[in-house]
Amino acid sequence: MNNCIFCKIIKGEIPSQKIYEDDLVYAFHDIAPAAPVHILIIPKTHIPCLQETEPTHQALLGHILLTAKKLASELGVAEEGYRIVNNCGEKSGQTVFHLHFHLLAGDTFSKLV
Ligand code: 5GP
Ligand code: ZN
Repeated sequence: MNNCIFCKIIKGEIPSQKIYEDDLVYAFHDIAPAAPVHILIIPKTHIPCLQETEPTHQALLGHILLTAKKLASELGVAEEGYRIVNNCGEKSGQTVFHLHFHLLAGDTFSKLV
């Protein structure tokens, strides 16, 4: 996807503060943090949103969540707790249409659900 900001970040065409990378995922600091810790975890392959995933993405989706768990430990927020957010579709507030999971911590979050 030529026009995708996150694909450009993965390729290094747009700078980012990378925190982790492997064959499948890329994780970096959100440019406009909504909490003291605000990391985005994205697949290296372009998938617009969760609704566009298929059963073939099962391992990838699991890997993203296990990466979130690992990063929470490394960032020292696992014990106090953290929130994982995925916005899917315009009404949810999704603004970048490359699948991503927010890892938020360091704050007390109001309860939505
Ligand atoms: P969404 O609103 O789609 O769930 O989340 C998109 C997130 O991407 C937002 O929190 C926004 O701040 C972040 N973001 C948008 N553009 C960039 C960018 O160029 N670099 C970084 N690091 N984050 C970005
Ligand atoms: Zn993309």
